[in-house]
Amino acid sequence: MRTERVNELKANMKSFGKDAYQKSELLDEMFALQQEIVSLTFNQDHAALAELRIWDVEKHLEQMNEELGNVADEELQRFIDGSKTLCNLIKAEISGNRGEAKAFRTLEYIKSKNYVLKNVELNDGDFRTELDAVVITPSAITIVEVKNTAKDIFIDEAGNYFRTGEFLRLDCNIAEKMQIKETLLRKALSTAGYDEVEINSVVVFTNNRIEVQNKFEGIRTCFSSQLSYKVEGDRSRTVFSDKDMEAIKVCIEQAESKETYPFEFDVEQYKTDYASTIVHEFYCTQCGERGIPVHRKYGQFREVGHLKKLYCLAYGKETNHAECISASKYDSSMFFDEYESGNFDSEGNRILSLSEWKQKKQEPESIADIDQEDDLSEWYEFLTSLLRAFNI
Ligand SMILES: [Zn+2]
Repeated sequence: MRTERVNELKANMKSFGKDAYQKSELLDEMFALQQEIVSLTFNQDHAALAELRIWDVEKHLEQMNEELGNVADEELQRFIDGSKTLCNLIKAEISGNRGEAKAFRTLEYIKSKNYVLKNVELNDGDFRTELDAVVITPSAITIVEVKNTAKDIFIDEAGNYFRTGEFLRLDCNIAEKMQIKETLLRKALSTAGYDEVEINSVVVFTNNRIEVQNKFEGIRTCFSSQLSYKVEGDRSRTVFSDKDMEAIKVCIEQAESKETYPFEFDVEQYKTDYASTIVHEFYCTQCGERGIPVHRKYGQFREVGHLKKLYCLAYGKETNHAECISASKYDSSMFFDEYESGNFDSEGNRILSLSEWKQKKQEPESIADIDQEDDLSEWYEFLTSLLRAFNI
């Protein structure tokens, strides 16, 4: 039943509903996931939702966990780790997009006829690569690689790409990377009979406050402002007719991999971590039906089994609802016990206090002390076994 509840909560999360996504769809989907978690967490306060972010959810869950006596440390930690990864992916995607947008804007200054193909993904089975842009002009085909970095860059004679600072930090061999891009582009061009053409590459840096030193002859580098000149090259030279340019554009578009993008984030796991960290439900003390799931607002947590006025559909008015936390000692099955034993009066108030009622229920076999700490350690134990059942 508890597993069901976690799954039910997860079923309400519609982001990343498809099996796979293309790169261009990812950012929107990550925003949708964030928004979904925010609105599930802060259910009652719609006005402020737009302003809230994942870290607000983290803060909220941390507070809730603390108030519950650190019962869900592990789940919470996993959720927080996942959130960190998600936020970094969002940031990287935004900064990448921004950098590309800045570089691409300058391509509008190319004077000759041209085609600009953006974010071209190519895949030949062995390698996959993304060309930030391919620009076709009458005098050249140019691969544009956009770098959006705040660090100074040094490229050595062998094409090793270093970010410099206090230490040289090897990032990649950019010569090899560009070689793969060129090889895959040439394969695409060969389908239209253009395999012998010259392909140029330029690495463009969007941040003109950095210093770029390039000792490798196979690659040209520049800043955004110079990009259109670099791409246009020798404008007096005409290699491609209009017809050629059109054919080149079409064959690249046809070669583009429509395959999905490998997304290095386990969304399912993240949703599970979220759902198992926070599952509250409210049951009506008058009709026994479950109310609309509510996630508690920041700073409002009270003891388990606490009563709250919520609207009851059956009665058409507000009635007392008992708060159940999945996998705690006061979960929905405990509520049904209490409800069926008649411990709620017609006003929805408890006849015996929860601990008195529990004590009475357990007598005479046991007079064990049923305090909240006990409840919570059991909840914790159960959560752990729940997670094991999830193969986590
Ligand atoms: Zn009711």
